[in-house]
Amino acid sequence: MSPPGNSHWAGYELRRQRMVERLTHMGIRRAEVLAAIGAVPRHLFVEEALRSRAYDDMSLPLGLGQTISQPYTVAVMTQLLLGEEPLSQRRRVLEIGTGCGYQTAVLQALGLPEIYSIERLRPLHERAKQHLRAVKLLQQARLVCGDGYLGLPEVAPFDGILVTAAPAQIPLPLLQQLAVGGRMVLPLDDGHAQFLWVIDKTEQGFRETCIQEALFVPLVNGI
Ligand code: SAH
Repeated sequence: MSPPGNSHWAGYELRRQRMVERLTHMGIRRAEVLAAIGAVPRHLFVEEALRSRAYDDMSLPLGLGQTISQPYTVAVMTQLLLGEEPLSQRRRVLEIGTGCGYQTAVLQALGLPEIYSIERLRPLHERAKQHLRAVKLLQQARLVCGDGYLGLPEVAPFDGILVTAAPAQIPLPLLQQLAVGGRMVLPLDDGHAQFLWVIDKTEQGFRETCIQEALFVPLVNGI
């Protein structure tokens, strides 16, 4: 039996292990992704009242009408971002929609060397910074408060772009900021349903692949 002072923490560790096992059964294969998700204390990214649900496979409210994606979605998007490539192919990565910073922490736990994440709502941007600092995962990540629709032209090109809110169309600035050999993962909302897409930039142009149905908050165009 663990000492009483530790039992709370040990409970979270166990739930996190179970979550990783569940993700394996749900088809997440890439070992680095499972290890990264296993390393991030997700309960520290949600409000205290929601901590007991942090490892369930559900999305959770994070304030200001926004939601943190369910663990499976984070795992799928991260796995898609890597594709079949070695980690070293995704050196510079941009996330749109920092939210609580959980997905950013997972990218960081993967060990990607250069991570940028943009959030338009300042209170969420500030809180995400606190969360990442608290779990000591702010070393490689630069958090920016602004309009993610525009990307970060001054830092581009990116080897990977992960959009965690759904636009109606692929934001043109983001396409332009993708490196050759780079990949964007994003949900697109056609007004009836959302689907997750992968966009690869090759020497010959863009290749678009529709993956599966998705459910994200809208990407707001213009602050
Ligand atoms: N990846 C997040 C979840 C994101 S929810 C996490 O792990 O917690 C989607 C986020 O996108 C919300 O916080 C929302 O405010 C933000 N968002 C929506 N439109 C945006 C835009 N144009 N630029 C930057 N962030 C945006």
